[in-house]
Amino acid sequence: MKPLSRFRLIFFALGLSLSAVAQSGPSTPSMASQPAAQPAFTVIPLGVRGGLDESNLSSYLVAAGNSRDYICLDAGTLYAGIRKAIANGVLPPPIATVLRRDIKDYFISHPHLDHVAGLIINSPEDSSKNIYALASCLKVLQGSYFSWQSWANFGDQGEKPQLKKYHYVTMQPGEEITADRTPLQVRAFPLSHGNPYESTAFLVRNGGDCLLYFGDTGADSVEHTDKIQRVWQSVGPLVQAGRLKAIFIEVSFPNEQPVKSLFGHLTPALLSQELKALAALTGETALHGLPVVITHRKPSDDQEERIRRQLVAGNPLGVKLIFPEQGRKLSF
Ligand SMILES: [Zn+2]
Ligand SMILES: [Zn+2]
Repeated sequence: MKPLSRFRLIFFALGLSLSAVAQSGPSTPSMASQPAAQPAFTVIPLGVRGGLDESNLSSYLVAAGNSRDYICLDAGTLYAGIRKAIANGVLPPPIATVLRRDIKDYFISHPHLDHVAGLIINSPEDSSKNIYALASCLKVLQGSYFSWQSWANFGDQGEKPQLKKYHYVTMQPGEEITADRTPLQVRAFPLSHGNPYESTAFLVRNGGDCLLYFGDTGADSVEHTDKIQRVWQSVGPLVQAGRLKAIFIEVSFPNEQPVKSLFGHLTPALLSQELKALAALTGETALHGLPVVITHRKPSDDQEERIRRQLVAGNPLGVKLIFPEQGRKLSF
């Protein structure tokens, strides 16, 4: 190495460390409440809406810390969401590399089209990976979509010939599995989505920190089940310990929606009721400031805005409401 370039290297290193000191600044109480430099989870929503807009349907990339090894929770939209995230500078181009290399696995909450369309449509260009879900969901993927009649069978089960690009992994309720090629552990909890139809909540763990993602779900009181209550019982201690970093949960309709037309979905009032059930287990203060990410708003008329207003107006527990946008990174 030439003396001049060595000098430049030393100067550069010094400059970096000096600027790091300058940025860290004095330690004050207000700094202590700032998020840590390395988050427990990075989430990139590829689709956030609960219907109609086929370019923006439920799909969330989740990685440990700042890594680029993503699992994909639901896959209603892939291509349009990756394109948007690239345009926002949140993911590096090209789209094909994100799809093929950065997304390691899929976790599908239930087989409604708005949660799997992106996966099916992009499958010819995708790389080989695992699809994790409860047995009821995998059965529909195999029998109704990757079946040669609807689409080529890219799976390793179902109608022959099987192209075996995707390996189906059946999740058992409550059992934790390690997501292939990531450090993330995932547990599945069955949900009721228009009884008797089943959906899933995924509890994603990175070391001691967790993130809870609900697929579509009705309220326990409406569905006449205790499925959400069982999830709360499992995560209550995590909430009390400050280890649950965020809850992703759906609110599909505004409060005006008649109960008979909920079709296994939540309203702001029903979400509030469910969060109170969690607070009954943890104490109310444990929920104060907890990030609650609102997914799956149905965009008919001005419903998305009405849902937002109703949630903000009725938030007695003081959770931190977050309204995700396609291609905008979230850190927890
Ligand atoms: Zn659904
Ligand atoms: Zn849905």
